[in-house]
Amino acid sequence: MVELKSQASLNAMRPAGQAVARALDAVRRAASVGVSLLELDQVAREELLRSGANSPFLGYHPSFAPVPFPAVICASVNDAIVHGIPNEYRLRSGDLLSVDCGALVDGWAGDAAISFTVGAARPADTHLIETAQQALNAGIAAAVVGNRIGDIAHAIGRTCRAAGYGIPDGFGGHGIGRQMHEDPGVPNEGPPGRGLKLRAGMVLAIEPMLVAGGTDDYRTDADGWTLRTLDGSRAAHVEHTVAITKDGPRVLTKA
Ligand code: MG
Ligand code: MG
Repeated sequence: MVELKSQASLNAMRPAGQAVARALDAVRRAASVGVSLLELDQVAREELLRSGANSPFLGYHPSFAPVPFPAVICASVNDAIVHGIPNEYRLRSGDLLSVDCGALVDGWAGDAAISFTVGAARPADTHLIETAQQALNAGIAAAVVGNRIGDIAHAIGRTCRAAGYGIPDGFGGHGIGRQMHEDPGVPNEGPPGRGLKLRAGMVLAIEPMLVAGGTDDYRTDADGWTLRTLDGSRAAHVEHTVAITKDGPRVLTKA
């Protein structure tokens, strides 16, 4: 069931969105050569604490996962697409890092992700990340009253495919509100003009995932969480929590 949020509820979702934005910003500032993924998780934990936020990631245990998620961020490096578990790995110059973070404040959830390079960036990575951002912007621009879910999916997918990138099969965005994952699903590719009609008060996490090598296949690490590209190429993932309003899309996870 798709829940429509009132204007007051959208306003109530902002603190969670701001908490996510602040945590991601802190992680981006802390992420440099030699810093470990576990240290970045700690940075996010402290920032969420400062915001009075809980983490919807920590202890999250969906049916596909063998263990509950042990961190407040997903940290996915290079060929890891999403759901990377922060570990002892220390960032190296030229790494591409995708960080996903959620927050719960006053019973409302926020969810966002960023991708960036550390140290000396490869031009190919810069292009991949820029295209991911463009795909997200295109998806957000399509999140308007009267459009359909398929229009968001089409805007994202078209942007990725035009650049020759792959889109991991079966992954995409989702409704969000009291729960981090609510209906409807928001695919990252599909025909326009199809699916649920968008109405004011719908809140969607829009999250393109791009595979540089152009394949849509992925594999899962032995940890049961980390998704990796099958071709070993690099991946990018960006996300915002976006409310559909009569005045246009409102990004709730901006600072
Ligand atoms: Mg996320
Ligand atoms: Mg999400």
